[in-house]
Amino acid sequence: MSFILHIQRFTCSNCNNAWNSSNFYEVVTTGITNLKPSTVTPPPGTAFGITRLPPRPVPVCYACAEDLATLRTLQRQALESEWAATLRRKQEQQLELAKTELRGGSGSGAQTSHRTYAPSIDEL
Ligand SMILES: [Zn+2]
Repeated sequence: MSFILHIQRFTCSNCNNAWNSSNFYEVVTTGITNLKPSTVTPPPGTAFGITRLPPRPVPVCYACAEDLATLRTLQRQALESEWAATLRRKQEQQLELAKTELRGGSGSGAQTSHRTYAPSIDEL
């Protein structure tokens, strides 16, 4: 019966927080060697080793995850609000255009143009 402790350093790419973490395993050999997560302290007389794994970056960590989630929610809401305002403004412009065309087309013949093309994104 033998055990091994894996120690690894993590660094958060978002907030630069760094911490060490460890996982403890029992080494089980039944033809091939497997590591089985263990919760027991190695009994006296058993082999016990330590392995330091290469440092590992993580994109977001426990220290900054909630702040980042709140920030992303606010950003998404701001974008949705901007988009809704754009749609509202376009709708109002089309309504004004329709009113103008109705007034112009009532016999005076002053303005009877109809849009014959799809507006580009710059015209919106
Ligand atoms: Zn972080």
